[in-house]
Amino acid sequence: MPDHSLEHPFSLSVEDVIRKLKTDADNGLDPGEAEARLGSYCANRLRRQKRKSLLAILGNLFQSAIVWLLTFAAGLSFVFGEFAEGVAIVALLLVNAGIGFFTELRAARSMEALMQIADVRTRVRRGGESRMIDARDIVPGDIVVLEVGDMVTADLRLIEAAKLQMDEAVLTGESTPVEKATEPVAKDTAVGDRADMAFKGTAVTQGSGEGLVVATGMDTEIGRISYLAQSAEADVTPLEQRLDRLGHRLVWLSLGLAALAIGAGILRGSDIMAMIQTGVALAVASVPEGLPIVATLSLARGMWRMSARNALITQLSSVETLGATTVILTDKTGTLTENRMTVAKYIFEDAEVEVDADGDHGFRNTAGDPVSPDEDTRLAAALRIGALCSAAETGDETDRDHAGDPMEIALLAVAKTASLAQEDLVSDLPEIREHAFDPDVKMMATVHEDDGAYLVAVKGAPEEDLQACSRVLKSCGETGQLDDDTRSSWLDRNANAAQDGLRVLALAQKRVSDGETDPYDDLDLIGLVCLIDPIRDDVPEAIAARQNAWVRVVMLTGDHADTARTIAKKAGLGDGELKVLEGPDLGKLDVETMSEDDLAQVMQTDVFARVAPETKLTLVSLFQKAGQVVAMTGDGVNDAPALKKADIGIAMGQRGTEVAKEAARMVLQDDRFPTIVAAMREGRVIFGNIRNFAIYMMSCNVSQILVVGLAVGAGLPTPLLPLQILYLNVVTGSFLPWPLASGPEAKQC
Ligand code: ATP
Repeated sequence: MPDHSLEHPFSLSVEDVIRKLKTDADNGLDPGEAEARLGSYCANRLRRQKRKSLLAILGNLFQSAIVWLLTFAAGLSFVFGEFAEGVAIVALLLVNAGIGFFTELRAARSMEALMQIADVRTRVRRGGESRMIDARDIVPGDIVVLEVGDMVTADLRLIEAAKLQMDEAVLTGESTPVEKATEPVAKDTAVGDRADMAFKGTAVTQGSGEGLVVATGMDTEIGRISYLAQSAEADVTPLEQRLDRLGHRLVWLSLGLAALAIGAGILRGSDIMAMIQTGVALAVASVPEGLPIVATLSLARGMWRMSARNALITQLSSVETLGATTVILTDKTGTLTENRMTVAKYIFEDAEVEVDADGDHGFRNTAGDPVSPDEDTRLAAALRIGALCSAAETGDETDRDHAGDPMEIALLAVAKTASLAQEDLVSDLPEIREHAFDPDVKMMATVHEDDGAYLVAVKGAPEEDLQACSRVLKSCGETGQLDDDTRSSWLDRNANAAQDGLRVLALAQKRVSDGETDPYDDLDLIGLVCLIDPIRDDVPEAIAARQNAWVRVVMLTGDHADTARTIAKKAGLGDGELKVLEGPDLGKLDVETMSEDDLAQVMQTDVFARVAPETKLTLVSLFQKAGQVVAMTGDGVNDAPALKKADIGIAMGQRGTEVAKEAARMVLQDDRFPTIVAAMREGRVIFGNIRNFAIYMMSCNVSQILVVGLAVGAGLPTPLLPLQILYLNVVTGSFLPWPLASGPEAKQC
């Protein structure tokens, strides 16, 4: 037992755990020490990719009914002195087993290799530096940094927890997130109540924290109950199941026919030997030898080809599902658009200020004259609130692994060029609290100390933000009342900007004496900020290509309906007039009670706007109810349930959270929409090829069965001897069809 292992770490104080694990809370482990520890522990991995042993693969081959039928036929041949036949059948069995063995082996090893590429990365602190490493390389004593959306990759004793909440459903079955803290708990506390621990396989749903690794791999709680080991049972694809069923039916059919033929022959007084030979011939004729092998090999090849195109598939069966997909529910930001935002303009009560697009972020009024935040109090306030009310930090953009929300980075950048850098602002107005962005509320807030009082900075979707505002900032610096009429005129301005495809946020603030006050109430509206997020160049072409492939593309977005409509139009969604469904209408959707007519209406919709996370799940269910095979893209923690529910969940490899990637069946390593199209086309081709091959094989087998069965039924001698059938099968079934099954796109039906 390595000396760093700990009994009941949750019952020890933070200091004790740090001391016992011989680590440093500020700097983490020394990289050399981490390396050494890695040598004395197993890699941090559950044995979920149980390596298939050679014997197991060989054993699998002999589980097939077809093999047993052939073995029986060979046995009969030997018993009745037909040695040539017996040897030929045995030879066929061996050749088949050989091909099957190597294809299975290759498929199994390919899967293992692909699983490794998909391994999760984790942020740790080592030698005083924060870095992303492979979760496999984590060792006890490492300090892991946790943020919203992270999957926990080892069992951690928490040493810091800021509003940290975890989803532990995978471990405890409890779907409501649990709050975490750092205070130790009693030794006999049940797993689900160990508030100072974060367990491997669980996910951060809110807040942030740091934890000390106390157990890795199979020593973790989840390793112990080996949940994943069970759930990662061999993945039998629906296609394989269908082929297996087909094999069984053929065996029964041929046995039935053989029994009939032999019975009829014996009644007619035919030679018993001849009848047995016929039975063997029928048995041999019914076997589609190469079919399962070819199917598995095609799927495995497809998986590799897709991974070469940056689409990582984590289950063989998903290759098939991809080919059968009929609708793609896609998000907007980052998938259809670049997710590279820049601030285009600010809208104030009686003025607009445009931002130069040249990177210097010069400000101009509508007459084209320069405007300075030094002279325009509202512009200064807007820049300041945009920089303060932010979960991103300046400098994030240089750290690829840790890039913040591009929208917030754009707000920081524009403020910085106006000499309102976030770090300077925060040193004057220290942040005491952050109310993280909540997609249900569609706003976020930060609270700052300000000269003995508090400044609350708020940004969010204009519809919600305007409801929380009571006043509006005027050009003189005073505030005026905001009533329902003025609110609706602001909503009109919001809609106008959205129609230009801009993403719009409202900025608001208030000064209060109580830092605990509700941030979303009685605010002063400063104005709207409009951001450009250009559509990706390659998207319209990819969408056009997909429409031709009979796959509909439907947009699901949290953004304003007008922004969504404009982007959807540019991307080429829908045919002709776009049908958009929005917010309140979506709230009424109910999978259980929806009428056929309403369902048909939903199915015709091209864009669902202001979609809340739980509505995504409902929409996936509705599309499935209507008989669609649904692919769904997503990146956030909130997308995970819908990604799981979809027939194929597609997560973004670069900007996606680990939780989303874990829930998905396909991970796009380049986050590009055309990659989905390419993978789908590949899936369709593979599906088509396997079907072609199956039809070809079946037609060969059925014609042989008919020739033999009919002849014997009519009292004629067996037209084809078992040896001849075997020869035919080897030639027609084992060599000729390969190009059919592994061919490129040209073979698509
Ligand atoms: P999509 O990725 O499909 O475009 P979305 O990212 O716009 O969806 P959400 O993240 O749910 O969807 O955002 C919904 C709305 O909430 C946005 O349109 C915006 O008005 C507002 N919003 C988004 N992010 C923030 C944030 N960090 N701070 C404040 N408001 C935000």
